[in-house]
Amino acid sequence: MADVTLTGIRKRFKGGADVIPDMHLAIDDGSFTVLVGPSGCGKSTLLRIIAGLETASEGSVSIDGRDVTQEEPSERNVAMVFQSYALYPHMSVARNIDFGMRLAKVPAEERKAKVAEAARLLNLEDYLDRKPAALSGGQRQRVAIGRAIVRNPGVFLFDEPLSNLDAALRNRMRVELAELHQRLGATMVYVTHDQVEAMTLADRIVVMNGGRIEQAGSPMELYTRPSTRFVAGFIGSPR
Ligand code: ADP
Ligand code: MG
Repeated sequence: MADVTLTGIRKRFKGGADVIPDMHLAIDDGSFTVLVGPSGCGKSTLLRIIAGLETASEGSVSIDGRDVTQEEPSERNVAMVFQSYALYPHMSVARNIDFGMRLAKVPAEERKAKVAEAARLLNLEDYLDRKPAALSGGQRQRVAIGRAIVRNPGVFLFDEPLSNLDAALRNRMRVELAELHQRLGATMVYVTHDQVEAMTLADRIVVMNGGRIEQAGSPMELYTRPSTRFVAGFIGSPR
């Protein structure tokens, strides 16, 4: 079980206004939830709060029905994948994928098996000895996803993972992500500003505006019955 529940989350950075005033959001176990909204509306901040990389000013985060508000990122059942890959340039692909497990002192046999499994899932088997600089953008993003997969998280958090890729590659990676979701059955929370990604990947789209939820629903609901002009402008049909 890996549902995520945000209750009364408020976030204010030092000296600033509320970036997120009062967020309540329940994300179902195994769902693919996509967060969309204009730049600066608080999408990344919200993901970072779920991951534990950022502390909420008020409110609570629970994962698997357990309050994790005070827990470190490593204690939460989550893994985050960033737009910028954040790979170690001096390490091979295999070492990059392995790194977190080494830190966590996972036994060598198990680590080896998990690296091999992730490489198979992500079509990286022929690239395990290469350094990140010798990879394409899509391959680098696969390595970043591989690092998340080997941690076996119940919840994957993706922050615009495909936005550095060209259009053709983005389409291919989108299909791969959908397959990965099917195979792993994990909960995925995915930030994008790409309407096609949102419409095709999501079971549920959450449209944010100014740190609030403007509307949440299935892609079809939002497309056919946008509740506001703002939502219509973002993903809906014209109204
Ligand atoms: P999004 O991901 O939707 O583009 P962010 O969550 O990155 O938005 O940012 C939301 C708001 O919070 C923006 O106004 C941004 O400038 C502000 N913000 C984000 N991180 C910080 C920070 N560390 N310190 C101060 N303000 C921040
Ligand atoms: Mg962002």
